[in-house]
Amino acid sequence: MAHDEPANKTPARLLIRNIGLLLSGNLEQPILDADTVVAVDGKIAAVGKAKDVDAEGATLIIDARGTTLAPGLIDSHVHPVAGDWTPRQNQIGWIDSYLHGGVTTMISAGEVHTPGRPKDVVGLKAMAIFAQRAFSAFRPGGVRIHAGAPVIEHGMVEEDFKDLAAAGVTMLGEVGLGSVKDGATARQMVAWARKFGIQSTIHTGGPSIPGSSLIDKDIVLAADADIIGHINGGHTALPDDQIVTLCEESSRALEVVHNGNERAALLTLRTATELKQLGRVIVGTDSPAGSGVQPLGILRMISMLSSLGEISAEVAFCFATGNTAKIRQLGCGEIAPDRDATFVMIDKAQHSAGNTVLESIQRGDLPGIGMVIVDGVVSAQRSRNTPPATTSPEIVPGR
Ligand SMILES: [Zn+2]
Repeated sequence: MAHDEPANKTPARLLIRNIGLLLSGNLEQPILDADTVVAVDGKIAAVGKAKDVDAEGATLIIDARGTTLAPGLIDSHVHPVAGDWTPRQNQIGWIDSYLHGGVTTMISAGEVHTPGRPKDVVGLKAMAIFAQRAFSAFRPGGVRIHAGAPVIEHGMVEEDFKDLAAAGVTMLGEVGLGSVKDGATARQMVAWARKFGIQSTIHTGGPSIPGSSLIDKDIVLAADADIIGHINGGHTALPDDQIVTLCEESSRALEVVHNGNERAALLTLRTATELKQLGRVIVGTDSPAGSGVQPLGILRMISMLSSLGEISAEVAFCFATGNTAKIRQLGCGEIAPDRDATFVMIDKAQHSAGNTVLESIQRGDLPGIGMVIVDGVVSAQRSRNTPPATTSPEIVPGR
């Protein structure tokens, strides 16, 4: 046993009480009839009514004061580079800012903004392994960044995917951002990746930055990547009929992003609703990008999809939590026993026209964040980025 882990270490027991509304993140039952959550050593142990839950021995008590508890938000599509810096807008501290937008988990769609990004096979593999290692060991504000997502290039062979998987790489960056832009090669490499347990995302739509190019529905269908990345374009969307075809003919995840075409995102949502396949819808920002960084991007997507897509706010939360966790096989994203004790606590923004927090979101407003908890530890209190919440939770003193 490591010397910094004494054998008699007291388990950290977190108690959150007086929860006014509990959003589960699970599409099957997005609202739970519960007011109390207990977590032990960063994992949820119990969810229920106060009278039914063993609340003894808490080492940290949070009084939700009637506010709303939801799973920490997941940004399914970011482009990190190194540390908490993005060269795209030369900004420092962007990840910490997203934490103040309720984002506790980020998925890299490729570290493609790395200055001098290597494009030879040895170099791109080395960079992916480096990013995977560096971001697993670096968690600004507790945010968990799943990174190390190589962009496939011509010349890669099956053995390369085997090596990457053995080294701990679990996903590919956006297919189409490298030299592989044809359906047949993409399909072969995506299949090799899948064989070794590596998930894949494809860039969908027009070119994002000089050097990338159009990926249309035929290439997306041929490649058959696990996630149809930014189906609403990043930034430029495919024509409507192609988006509908992708929803209908593929069974893969439908990712809609903040930095895409909002009308195309709503078309995707409407089509998924008609197909009764809302479980496929996941949300990202596709940032940092030419349009900047968006600390509130995921909240803005929830509000946009809910208000303009006529989806209840509790369902829209599932797109940014449980759906993404399920598709990407993460331990966070749902409030249920054994899941990560990672939460965002929200309330109606001060002076929003809605009567409840859900109604305010359905009217297009953003909620206010009062607290963010990662793995059972308070990472942020009143957000510096959202409008102020009407009521904020409190840490009960004396513990
Ligand atoms: Zn893209």
